[in-house]
Amino acid sequence: MQSAYRQLPSVDRLLQTPHLRALADGPAHDTLADLAREALDAARQAIGRGEPPPTFDALAAAVEARALRLWRPTLAEVINATGVIIHTNLGRALLSDAAIAAASAAAASYSDLELDLASGERGSRHVHLEELLVRLTAAEAGLAVNNNASAMLLALTALAHGREVIVSRGQAVEIGGGFRIPDVLRQSGATLVEVGTTNRTYLHDYEEAITPNTAALLRVHSSNFRVVGFVHEVSMADLATLGRERGVAVVDDLGSGALLDTAAYGLVHEPMPQESVAAGAGLVCFSGDKLLGGPQAGIVVGQRVLVERLKRHPLARAVRLDKMTIAALRATLLHYLRGEATAHVPVWQMMAATADALRRRARRWARSVSAGGWPAQVVAGRSAVGGGSLPGETLPTWLLALPASERLRPSAVAARLRAGSPAVVARIEHDALLFDPRTVLPRQDPALLARLGEALDGAA
Ligand SMILES: *Cc1c(COP(=O)(O)O)cnc(C)c1O
Repeated sequence: MQSAYRQLPSVDRLLQTPHLRALADGPAHDTLADLAREALDAARQAIGRGEPPPTFDALAAAVEARALRLWRPTLAEVINATGVIIHTNLGRALLSDAAIAAASAAAASYSDLELDLASGERGSRHVHLEELLVRLTAAEAGLAVNNNASAMLLALTALAHGREVIVSRGQAVEIGGGFRIPDVLRQSGATLVEVGTTNRTYLHDYEEAITPNTAALLRVHSSNFRVVGFVHEVSMADLATLGRERGVAVVDDLGSGALLDTAAYGLVHEPMPQESVAAGAGLVCFSGDKLLGGPQAGIVVGQRVLVERLKRHPLARAVRLDKMTIAALRATLLHYLRGEATAHVPVWQMMAATADALRRRARRWARSVSAGGWPAQVVAGRSAVGGGSLPGETLPTWLLALPASERLRPSAVAARLRAGSPAVVARIEHDALLFDPRTVLPRQDPALLARLGEALDGAA
Protein backbone atom coordinates (compact mmCIF):
# COMPACT_ATOMS: atom_id res chain seq x y z
CA MET A 1 0.00 0.00 0.00
CA GLN A 2 2.88 2.36 0.84
CA SER A 3 4.18 1.90 -2.69
CA ALA A 4 0.71 2.71 -4.07
CA TYR A 5 0.85 6.08 -2.29
CA ARG A 6 4.34 6.65 -3.64
CA GLN A 7 3.11 6.13 -7.20
CA LEU A 8 1.00 9.30 -6.95
CA PRO A 9 2.57 12.27 -8.79
CA SER A 10 3.32 15.63 -7.18
CA VAL A 11 1.03 18.63 -7.64
CA ASP A 12 3.65 20.30 -9.85
CA ARG A 13 4.00 17.30 -12.12
CA LEU A 14 0.24 17.04 -12.49
CA LEU A 15 0.00 20.69 -13.47
CA GLN A 16 2.66 20.17 -16.15
CA THR A 17 0.41 17.89 -18.24
CA PRO A 18 -0.32 19.61 -21.57
CA HIS A 19 -4.04 19.94 -20.81
CA LEU A 20 -3.55 21.65 -17.51
CA ARG A 21 -0.38 23.63 -18.23
CA ALA A 22 -2.23 26.17 -20.35
CA LEU A 23 -4.45 26.92 -17.37
CA ALA A 24 -1.86 26.52 -14.64
CA ASP A 25 0.65 28.90 -16.23
CA GLY A 26 -1.87 31.74 -16.03
CA PRO A 27 -3.36 33.70 -13.15
CA ALA A 28 -5.49 30.69 -12.20
CA HIS A 29 -2.38 28.76 -11.05
CA ASP A 30 -3.20 28.84 -7.33
CA THR A 31 -6.76 27.62 -7.88
CA LEU A 32 -5.53 24.82 -10.16
CA ALA A 33 -2.95 23.80 -7.54
CA ASP A 34 -5.73 23.56 -4.92
CA LEU A 35 -7.81 21.40 -7.26
CA ALA A 36 -4.81 19.14 -7.93
CA ARG A 37 -4.26 18.74 -4.17
CA GLU A 38 -7.94 17.83 -3.72
CA ALA A 39 -7.75 15.23 -6.50
CA LEU A 40 -4.60 13.73 -4.91
CA ASP A 41 -6.31 13.64 -1.48
CA ALA A 42 -9.25 11.78 -3.02
CA ALA A 43 -6.82 9.32 -4.63
CA ARG A 44 -5.07 8.72 -1.27
CA GLN A 45 -8.41 8.02 0.39
CA ALA A 46 -9.29 5.56 -2.40
CA ILE A 47 -5.96 3.76 -1.85
CA GLY A 48 -6.73 3.71 1.87
CA ARG A 49 -9.96 1.86 1.06
CA GLY A 50 -7.92 -0.74 -0.79
CA GLU A 51 -8.49 0.52 -4.31
CA PRO A 52 -5.67 0.55 -6.87
CA PRO A 53 -3.85 3.89 -7.42
CA PRO A 54 -5.26 5.93 -10.33
CA THR A 55 -3.14 6.32 -13.47
CA PHE A 56 -1.44 9.62 -14.12
CA ASP A 57 -3.85 10.35 -17.01
CA ALA A 58 -6.88 9.59 -14.84
CA LEU A 59 -5.60 12.00 -12.19
CA ALA A 60 -4.98 14.75 -14.75
CA ALA A 61 -8.47 14.19 -16.15
CA ALA A 62 -9.90 14.41 -12.63
CA VAL A 63 -8.21 17.78 -12.05
CA GLU A 64 -9.50 19.06 -15.36
CA ALA A 65 -13.02 17.87 -14.56
CA ARG A 66 -12.86 19.67 -11.21
CA ALA A 67 -11.77 22.88 -12.97
CA LEU A 68 -14.54 22.65 -15.56
CA ARG A 69 -17.12 22.04 -12.84
CA LEU A 70 -15.88 25.05 -10.87
CA TRP A 71 -15.93 27.37 -13.89
CA ARG A 72 -19.14 26.09 -15.37
CA PRO A 73 -21.67 28.91 -15.50
CA THR A 74 -24.57 28.33 -13.12
CA LEU A 75 -27.85 30.22 -13.12
CA ALA A 76 -27.75 29.22 -16.78
CA GLU A 77 -30.69 29.73 -19.10
CA VAL A 78 -33.55 27.25 -18.71
CA ILE A 79 -36.46 26.96 -21.14
CA ASN A 80 -39.54 26.62 -18.95
CA ALA A 81 -41.98 24.45 -20.89
CA THR A 82 -43.88 23.43 -17.74
CA GLY A 83 -46.60 26.05 -18.16
CA VAL A 84 -46.11 27.13 -14.52
CA ILE A 85 -45.75 30.90 -14.86
CA ILE A 86 -44.30 31.75 -11.43
CA HIS A 87 -42.06 28.68 -11.05
CA THR A 88 -40.17 29.11 -7.78
CA ASN A 89 -37.44 26.59 -8.66
CA LEU A 90 -36.85 28.28 -12.02
CA GLY A 91 -36.55 31.78 -10.56
CA ARG A 92 -40.17 32.99 -10.32
CA ALA A 93 -41.05 36.13 -12.29
CA LEU A 94 -39.11 37.27 -15.36
CA LEU A 95 -38.43 40.99 -15.56
CA SER A 96 -39.68 43.36 -18.24
CA ASP A 97 -37.15 44.80 -20.69
CA ALA A 98 -37.35 48.15 -18.90
CA ALA A 99 -36.70 46.52 -15.51
CA ILE A 100 -33.71 44.60 -16.90
CA ALA A 101 -32.29 47.79 -18.40
CA ALA A 102 -32.83 49.70 -15.15
CA ALA A 103 -31.07 47.05 -13.06
CA SER A 104 -28.21 46.92 -15.50
CA ALA A 105 -27.84 50.73 -15.55
CA ALA A 106 -27.86 50.86 -11.74
CA ALA A 107 -25.08 48.26 -11.70
CA ALA A 108 -22.95 50.02 -14.30
CA SER A 109 -22.54 53.47 -12.79
CA TYR A 110 -22.72 55.41 -9.56
CA SER A 111 -26.22 56.71 -8.89
CA ASP A 112 -28.20 58.94 -6.55
CA LEU A 113 -29.07 55.89 -4.45
CA GLU A 114 -28.74 57.78 -1.17
CA LEU A 115 -27.87 61.30 -2.24
CA ASP A 116 -30.34 64.11 -2.73
CA LEU A 117 -28.87 65.72 -5.83
CA ALA A 118 -30.84 68.99 -5.34
CA SER A 119 -29.38 69.74 -1.92
CA GLY A 120 -26.25 67.64 -2.00
CA GLU A 121 -27.36 66.18 1.32
CA ARG A 122 -27.58 62.52 2.24
CA GLY A 123 -30.83 61.04 0.95
CA SER A 124 -32.76 57.84 1.62
CA ARG A 125 -32.98 54.80 -0.62
CA HIS A 126 -36.67 54.60 0.25
CA VAL A 127 -37.55 57.63 -1.90
CA HIS A 128 -37.10 55.70 -5.14
CA LEU A 129 -40.09 53.48 -4.43
CA GLU A 130 -42.31 55.05 -1.81
CA GLU A 131 -44.26 57.49 -3.94
CA LEU A 132 -44.98 54.82 -6.56
CA LEU A 133 -46.16 52.35 -3.92
CA VAL A 134 -48.39 55.01 -2.37
CA ARG A 135 -49.94 55.97 -5.70
CA LEU A 136 -50.56 52.36 -6.72
CA THR A 137 -52.21 51.27 -3.49
CA ALA A 138 -53.57 54.54 -2.05
CA ALA A 139 -51.74 53.75 1.20
CA GLU A 140 -50.23 56.55 3.31
CA ALA A 141 -46.71 55.13 3.13
CA GLY A 142 -44.69 52.25 1.74
CA LEU A 143 -41.36 50.48 1.96
CA ALA A 144 -39.67 47.58 0.18
CA VAL A 145 -37.22 45.07 1.64
CA ASN A 146 -35.44 41.88 0.59
CA ASN A 147 -38.48 39.59 0.23
CA ASN A 148 -41.91 39.09 1.72
CA ALA A 149 -40.57 36.72 4.38
CA SER A 150 -38.30 39.50 5.65
CA ALA A 151 -41.12 42.05 5.32
CA MET A 152 -43.20 39.89 7.66
CA LEU A 153 -40.28 39.37 10.05
CA LEU A 154 -39.61 43.12 10.13
CA ALA A 155 -43.28 44.04 10.58
CA LEU A 156 -43.88 41.57 13.39
CA THR A 157 -40.58 42.37 15.15
CA ALA A 158 -41.10 46.13 14.97
CA LEU A 159 -44.75 45.99 16.08
CA ALA A 160 -45.06 42.96 18.32
CA HIS A 161 -41.72 41.95 19.91
CA GLY A 162 -42.48 40.70 23.44
CA ARG A 163 -46.24 40.95 22.85
CA GLU A 164 -49.07 38.87 21.42
CA VAL A 165 -50.24 38.48 17.83
CA ILE A 166 -53.64 36.95 17.17
CA VAL A 167 -53.97 34.64 14.13
CA SER A 168 -56.85 32.48 12.95
CA ARG A 169 -56.02 28.79 13.42
CA GLY A 170 -56.74 28.28 9.71
CA GLN A 171 -54.03 30.81 8.82
CA ALA A 172 -51.12 29.62 10.99
CA VAL A 173 -49.79 28.00 7.85
CA GLU A 174 -46.61 27.01 6.03
CA ILE A 175 -46.08 28.99 2.84
CA GLY A 176 -43.31 26.73 1.50
CA GLY A 177 -39.55 26.71 1.58
CA GLY A 178 -39.73 26.38 5.36
CA PHE A 179 -41.61 29.66 5.85
CA ARG A 180 -44.11 28.94 8.62
CA ILE A 181 -46.18 31.65 10.27
CA PRO A 182 -45.66 30.24 13.82
CA ASP A 183 -41.88 30.18 13.25
CA VAL A 184 -41.78 33.75 11.92
CA LEU A 185 -43.73 34.90 14.95
CA ARG A 186 -41.32 33.12 17.29
CA GLN A 187 -38.33 34.66 15.46
CA SER A 188 -39.88 38.10 15.82
CA GLY A 189 -40.16 37.62 19.57
CA ALA A 190 -43.95 37.73 19.48
CA THR A 191 -46.30 35.20 21.03
CA LEU A 192 -48.74 33.50 18.69
CA VAL A 193 -52.31 33.40 19.94
CA GLU A 194 -54.37 31.10 17.73
CA VAL A 195 -58.11 31.60 17.64
CA GLY A 196 -61.05 29.86 15.99
CA THR A 197 -60.76 26.49 14.26
CA THR A 198 -59.05 25.29 11.10
CA ASN A 199 -62.14 25.88 8.97
CA ARG A 200 -64.17 28.54 10.81
CA THR A 201 -63.08 31.67 12.65
CA TYR A 202 -65.42 34.53 13.66
CA LEU A 203 -64.89 38.14 14.66
CA HIS A 204 -65.82 37.33 18.28
CA ASP A 205 -62.93 34.81 18.38
CA TYR A 206 -60.49 37.68 17.80
CA GLU A 207 -62.42 40.02 20.07
CA GLU A 208 -62.32 37.64 23.04
CA ALA A 209 -58.59 36.99 22.61
CA ILE A 210 -57.51 40.64 22.74
CA THR A 211 -55.66 41.50 25.99
CA PRO A 212 -53.67 44.58 27.05
CA ASN A 213 -50.64 42.69 25.71
CA THR A 214 -52.02 42.24 22.17
CA ALA A 215 -49.92 44.08 19.59
CA ALA A 216 -51.51 42.96 16.33
CA LEU A 217 -54.16 40.98 14.51
CA LEU A 218 -52.56 39.11 11.63
CA ARG A 219 -54.33 37.84 8.54
CA VAL A 220 -52.45 35.46 6.23
CA HIS A 221 -53.72 34.80 2.74
CA SER A 222 -53.93 31.05 2.06
CA SER A 223 -51.86 31.42 -1.07
CA ASN A 224 -50.87 27.80 -1.65
CA PHE A 225 -53.89 25.79 -0.52
CA ARG A 226 -57.62 26.12 -0.35
CA VAL A 227 -60.12 25.12 2.32
CA VAL A 228 -63.51 24.40 0.82
CA GLY A 229 -66.89 23.52 2.24
CA PHE A 230 -67.94 24.57 5.76
CA VAL A 231 -65.62 27.56 5.98
CA HIS A 232 -65.76 31.02 7.55
CA GLU A 233 -63.11 33.74 7.72
CA VAL A 234 -63.35 37.30 8.98
CA SER A 235 -63.16 40.03 6.32
CA MET A 236 -60.33 42.56 6.41
CA ALA A 237 -62.89 45.36 6.85
CA ASP A 238 -64.23 43.74 10.03
CA LEU A 239 -60.72 43.00 11.36
CA ALA A 240 -59.67 46.59 10.66
CA THR A 241 -62.69 47.99 12.49
CA LEU A 242 -61.97 45.77 15.48
CA GLY A 243 -58.31 46.80 15.45
CA ARG A 244 -59.24 50.48 15.35
CA GLU A 245 -61.74 50.14 18.21
CA ARG A 246 -59.28 48.28 20.43
CA GLY A 247 -56.10 50.13 19.45
CA VAL A 248 -54.41 47.08 17.93
CA ALA A 249 -52.48 47.07 14.62
CA VAL A 250 -53.85 44.92 11.79
CA VAL A 251 -51.31 43.24 9.49
CA ASP A 252 -52.26 41.54 6.22
CA ASP A 253 -49.85 39.06 4.61
CA LEU A 254 -51.17 38.87 1.06
CA GLY A 255 -48.37 36.79 -0.44
CA SER A 256 -48.66 37.50 -4.12
CA GLY A 257 -49.52 41.16 -4.39
CA ALA A 258 -51.65 41.22 -7.54
CA LEU A 259 -52.00 44.86 -8.57
CA LEU A 260 -54.28 43.79 -11.44
CA ASP A 261 -57.45 41.72 -11.19
CA THR A 262 -56.79 38.04 -11.95
CA ALA A 263 -60.53 37.57 -12.58
CA ALA A 264 -60.04 39.34 -15.91
CA TYR A 265 -58.17 36.17 -17.02
CA GLY A 266 -60.88 33.72 -15.98
CA LEU A 267 -59.13 32.98 -12.69
CA VAL A 268 -60.39 33.35 -9.15
CA HIS A 269 -60.00 36.91 -7.86
CA GLU A 270 -56.67 37.10 -6.02
CA PRO A 271 -56.87 39.64 -3.16
CA MET A 272 -55.21 42.92 -4.14
CA PRO A 273 -53.07 45.21 -1.93
CA GLN A 274 -55.18 48.24 -2.81
CA GLU A 275 -58.28 46.38 -1.56
CA SER A 276 -56.64 45.62 1.80
CA VAL A 277 -55.58 49.25 2.14
CA ALA A 278 -59.12 50.42 1.31
CA ALA A 279 -60.53 47.95 3.86
CA GLY A 280 -58.39 49.64 6.53
CA ALA A 281 -55.46 47.26 7.08
CA GLY A 282 -52.61 48.89 9.02
CA LEU A 283 -49.85 47.11 7.08
CA VAL A 284 -50.12 45.03 3.91
CA CYS A 285 -47.17 42.82 2.93
CA PHE A 286 -46.58 41.12 -0.43
CA SER A 287 -43.87 39.73 -2.70
CA GLY A 288 -42.18 41.58 -5.55
CA ASP A 289 -41.58 38.50 -7.71
CA LYS A 290 -44.92 36.72 -7.70
CA LEU A 291 -47.91 38.26 -9.50
CA LEU A 292 -46.34 41.71 -9.27
CA GLY A 293 -43.87 40.39 -11.85
CA GLY A 294 -40.80 42.22 -10.58
CA PRO A 295 -37.53 41.33 -8.82
CA GLN A 296 -37.35 39.46 -5.51
CA ALA A 297 -38.58 41.93 -2.90
CA GLY A 298 -40.99 42.29 -0.02
CA ILE A 299 -43.31 45.27 -0.15
CA VAL A 300 -45.06 46.81 2.82
CA VAL A 301 -47.70 49.51 2.42
CA GLY A 302 -50.04 50.98 4.99
CA GLN A 303 -50.46 53.58 7.70
CA ARG A 304 -47.62 56.07 7.96
CA VAL A 305 -47.05 55.66 11.73
CA LEU A 306 -46.61 51.92 11.29
CA VAL A 307 -44.44 52.09 8.16
CA GLU A 308 -42.20 54.65 9.92
CA ARG A 309 -41.71 52.25 12.84
CA LEU A 310 -40.55 49.61 10.37
CA LYS A 311 -38.16 51.99 8.63
CA ARG A 312 -36.57 53.00 11.95
CA HIS A 313 -36.16 49.45 13.27
CA PRO A 314 -32.53 48.12 13.16
CA LEU A 315 -33.72 45.02 11.30
CA ALA A 316 -34.71 47.25 8.35
CA ARG A 317 -31.00 47.78 7.66
CA ALA A 318 -30.40 44.02 7.67
CA VAL A 319 -33.11 43.32 5.10
CA ARG A 320 -32.70 46.38 2.87
CA LEU A 321 -32.81 46.24 -0.91
CA ASP A 322 -29.78 46.71 -3.11
CA LYS A 323 -29.64 49.25 -5.91
CA MET A 324 -30.24 46.84 -8.79
CA THR A 325 -33.40 45.53 -7.18
CA ILE A 326 -34.64 49.04 -6.39
CA ALA A 327 -34.10 50.01 -10.02
CA ALA A 328 -35.88 46.92 -11.38
CA LEU A 329 -38.75 47.25 -8.92
CA ARG A 330 -39.18 50.92 -9.74
CA ALA A 331 -39.33 50.17 -13.48
CA THR A 332 -41.85 47.39 -12.82
CA LEU A 333 -44.09 49.63 -10.69
CA LEU A 334 -43.95 52.32 -13.38
CA HIS A 335 -45.51 49.87 -15.86
CA TYR A 336 -48.57 49.66 -13.60
CA LEU A 337 -48.76 53.42 -13.09
CA ARG A 338 -48.66 53.93 -16.86
CA GLY A 339 -51.34 51.28 -17.40
CA GLU A 340 -49.01 49.16 -19.54
CA ALA A 341 -48.33 46.20 -17.23
CA THR A 342 -50.19 43.63 -19.36
CA ALA A 343 -48.18 44.72 -22.39
CA HIS A 344 -44.73 44.74 -20.73
CA VAL A 345 -44.62 42.58 -17.57
CA PRO A 346 -43.89 38.96 -18.60
CA VAL A 347 -46.08 37.41 -15.87
CA TRP A 348 -49.13 39.28 -17.21
CA GLN A 349 -48.15 38.77 -20.85
CA MET A 350 -48.07 35.02 -20.18
CA MET A 351 -51.40 35.13 -18.37
CA ALA A 352 -52.90 37.09 -21.26
CA ALA A 353 -51.63 34.80 -24.06
CA THR A 354 -54.62 33.83 -26.20
CA ALA A 355 -55.65 30.24 -26.90
CA ASP A 356 -55.21 30.91 -30.63
CA ALA A 357 -51.64 32.11 -30.26
CA LEU A 358 -50.75 29.20 -27.97
CA ARG A 359 -52.30 26.70 -30.36
CA ARG A 360 -50.40 28.15 -33.33
CA ARG A 361 -47.10 27.79 -31.53
CA ALA A 362 -47.86 24.26 -30.31
CA ARG A 363 -48.75 23.30 -33.90
CA ARG A 364 -45.52 24.79 -35.22
CA TRP A 365 -43.57 22.79 -32.65
CA ALA A 366 -45.50 19.65 -33.57
CA ARG A 367 -44.72 20.10 -37.28
CA SER A 368 -41.03 20.42 -36.51
CA VAL A 369 -41.03 17.27 -34.35
CA SER A 370 -43.05 15.31 -36.94
CA ALA A 371 -40.60 16.35 -39.64
CA GLY A 372 -37.95 14.60 -37.56
CA GLY A 373 -39.98 11.39 -37.78
CA TRP A 374 -41.53 11.42 -34.31
CA PRO A 375 -45.27 11.24 -33.58
CA ALA A 376 -46.39 14.55 -32.09
CA GLN A 377 -49.83 15.74 -31.05
CA VAL A 378 -51.33 19.07 -30.08
CA VAL A 379 -53.67 18.62 -27.13
CA ALA A 380 -55.72 20.89 -24.90
CA GLY A 381 -54.27 21.28 -21.41
CA ARG A 382 -53.95 23.61 -18.45
CA SER A 383 -51.23 26.06 -17.38
CA ALA A 384 -50.78 27.02 -13.72
CA VAL A 385 -49.98 30.41 -12.20
CA GLY A 386 -47.76 28.82 -9.52
CA GLY A 387 -45.45 30.45 -7.01
CA GLY A 388 -47.95 30.05 -4.21
CA SER A 389 -50.56 32.04 -6.09
CA LEU A 390 -54.07 30.93 -6.96
CA PRO A 391 -53.84 27.27 -5.83
CA GLY A 392 -55.70 24.87 -8.09
CA GLU A 393 -56.46 27.66 -10.54
CA THR A 394 -55.42 27.01 -14.12
CA LEU A 395 -55.57 28.66 -17.52
CA PRO A 396 -56.63 26.71 -20.63
CA THR A 397 -53.72 26.15 -22.99
CA TRP A 398 -52.53 24.03 -25.96
CA LEU A 399 -49.67 21.62 -25.49
CA LEU A 400 -47.23 19.76 -27.68
CA ALA A 401 -47.57 16.13 -26.51
CA LEU A 402 -45.07 13.38 -27.30
CA PRO A 403 -46.71 10.09 -26.36
CA ALA A 404 -44.68 7.28 -24.84
CA SER A 405 -43.78 4.47 -27.22
CA GLU A 406 -41.27 1.67 -27.70
CA ARG A 407 -38.84 4.25 -29.04
CA LEU A 408 -39.71 7.11 -26.71
CA ARG A 409 -39.45 6.91 -22.94
CA PRO A 410 -40.74 10.28 -21.62
CA SER A 411 -38.58 10.26 -18.48
CA ALA A 412 -35.42 9.50 -20.50
CA VAL A 413 -36.11 12.27 -23.03
CA ALA A 414 -36.95 14.69 -20.19
CA ALA A 415 -33.63 13.88 -18.52
CA ARG A 416 -31.72 14.51 -21.78
CA LEU A 417 -33.58 17.80 -22.25
CA ARG A 418 -32.58 18.93 -18.75
CA ALA A 419 -28.96 17.95 -19.29
CA GLY A 420 -28.19 20.01 -22.42
CA SER A 421 -27.77 23.72 -22.97
CA PRO A 422 -30.07 25.57 -22.72
CA ALA A 423 -31.77 23.10 -20.40
CA VAL A 424 -35.42 22.41 -21.17
CA VAL A 425 -37.83 21.54 -18.37
CA ALA A 426 -41.04 19.85 -19.52
CA ARG A 427 -43.90 18.02 -17.84
CA ILE A 428 -44.82 14.33 -17.91
CA GLU A 429 -48.50 13.44 -17.59
CA HIS A 430 -50.52 10.39 -18.61
CA ASP A 431 -47.40 8.81 -20.12
CA ALA A 432 -46.70 11.69 -22.48
CA LEU A 433 -44.05 14.39 -22.49
CA LEU A 434 -45.80 17.78 -22.55
CA PHE A 435 -44.55 21.23 -23.62
CA ASP A 436 -46.59 24.35 -22.86
CA PRO A 437 -45.89 27.38 -25.11
CA ARG A 438 -47.30 29.78 -22.50
CA THR A 439 -44.09 29.95 -20.47
CA VAL A 440 -41.61 29.57 -23.35
CA LEU A 441 -40.42 32.95 -24.59
CA PRO A 442 -41.01 33.28 -28.36
CA ARG A 443 -37.31 34.00 -28.87
CA GLN A 444 -36.54 30.61 -27.27
CA ASP A 445 -38.51 28.66 -29.91
CA PRO A 446 -35.52 27.87 -32.18
CA ALA A 447 -33.42 26.68 -29.23
CA LEU A 448 -36.30 24.59 -27.90
CA LEU A 449 -36.81 22.85 -31.24
CA ALA A 450 -33.09 22.26 -31.67
CA ARG A 451 -32.81 20.73 -28.20
CA LEU A 452 -35.90 18.60 -28.82
CA GLY A 453 -34.47 17.26 -32.07
CA GLU A 454 -31.20 16.43 -30.31
CA ALA A 455 -32.90 14.73 -27.35
CA LEU A 456 -35.21 12.66 -29.58
CA ASP A 457 -32.40 11.57 -31.86
CA GLY A 458 -30.54 10.47 -28.76
CA ALA A 459 -33.55 8.28 -27.96
CA ALA A 460 -33.54 6.49 -31.30
C1 LIG B 1 -44.87 33.67 -0.87
C2 LIG B 1 -45.43 34.10 0.43
C3 LIG B 1 -44.59 34.58 1.45
C4 LIG B 1 -43.10 34.66 1.28
O1 LIG B 1 -42.78 35.60 0.31
P1 LIG B 1 -41.28 35.65 -0.31
O2 LIG B 1 -41.28 36.87 -1.15
O3 LIG B 1 -41.11 34.38 -1.04
O4 LIG B 1 -40.35 35.76 0.84
C5 LIG B 1 -45.17 34.98 2.64
N1 LIG B 1 -46.49 34.91 2.82
C6 LIG B 1 -47.34 34.45 1.87
C7 LIG B 1 -48.81 34.38 2.16
C8 LIG B 1 -46.82 34.02 0.64
O5 LIG B 1 -47.65 33.55 -0.30
